[in-house]
Amino acid sequence: RMDLLVNAAGVEDRAAIDPASCDGIGLMRAEFLFRDGAPLPDEETQYRAYRRVLEWAGGKPVTIRTLDIGGDKPISGLTPEGEANPFLGLRGVRLTLAREEVFRTQLKALLRAGVHGTLKVMLPMVTVPDEISRSAALLRACHAELSARGVPCAIPPLGIMVEVPAVAVAPELFGAAQFFSIGSNDLTQYVTASSRDDARVAALNDPSHPAVLRLIAGVVRHGRETGQPVSLCGDMASEPRHLNALLDAGLTSLSVAPARLAAIKAAIAER
Ligand code: PEP
Ligand code: MG
Repeated sequence: RMDLLVNAAGVEDRAAIDPASCDGIGLMRAEFLFRDGAPLPDEETQYRAYRRVLEWAGGKPVTIRTLDIGGDKPISGLTPEGEANPFLGLRGVRLTLAREEVFRTQLKALLRAGVHGTLKVMLPMVTVPDEISRSAALLRACHAELSARGVPCAIPPLGIMVEVPAVAVAPELFGAAQFFSIGSNDLTQYVTASSRDDARVAALNDPSHPAVLRLIAGVVRHGRETGQPVSLCGDMASEPRHLNALLDAGLTSLSVAPARLAAIKAAIAER
């Protein structure tokens, strides 16, 4: 049995998917709320957006990722200017931990939305366990603040993206993660030292490189030993040509682009 979830990046994606056709949302990229040049969305705006997604899912799990900007996704005023190496700089959870007020606003919106469905929250670009403990502490502090004001809220499970090689090589350090979701786009970029958005090195940026597949299989094995659920939400999950390798690695949960759901279902049925 495979769990097949979908990735969503905005309201339009949701409208295009029938919740009955999948097992939930495996990756909601919240960046669509943060537009370059526009004011940052406040707690209420974010709460309403997350709540709509959870209500749409009707009880099926929805994994919303905390703000993953920086790297390929700059937002002026929030991401640093003039980084020599933005993909190795202040991006994902590194940035939100450095901009605590922005992180707190999102966490409070998520905590409030959590009462409207089955929410999970996922941290991008985790490199060391301390990033999970600091984020979990903030989540608890925001929960305490909302509860003291009598605002309905619920603490969701907190998991991490596995997209930095340090995590994929040593998953045993991350016992605090309640689940793992392998981000094969960034993992491939960092393992093969080839940019995900440079056509000249596209041939090297190959998620089926044995080194990448070995790391994926290791994370799956580790999750099976510890009981930490493992899924994969990078673009390779949407490509039928990678399906055999992912199933051989032991994955039983994939999150795919909505437009590819039917093709992946057909490929699984054929196997
Ligand atoms: C990934 O890195 O594989 C991933 C799913 O996240 P994003 O493509 O948004 O960086
Ligand atoms: Mg990524």
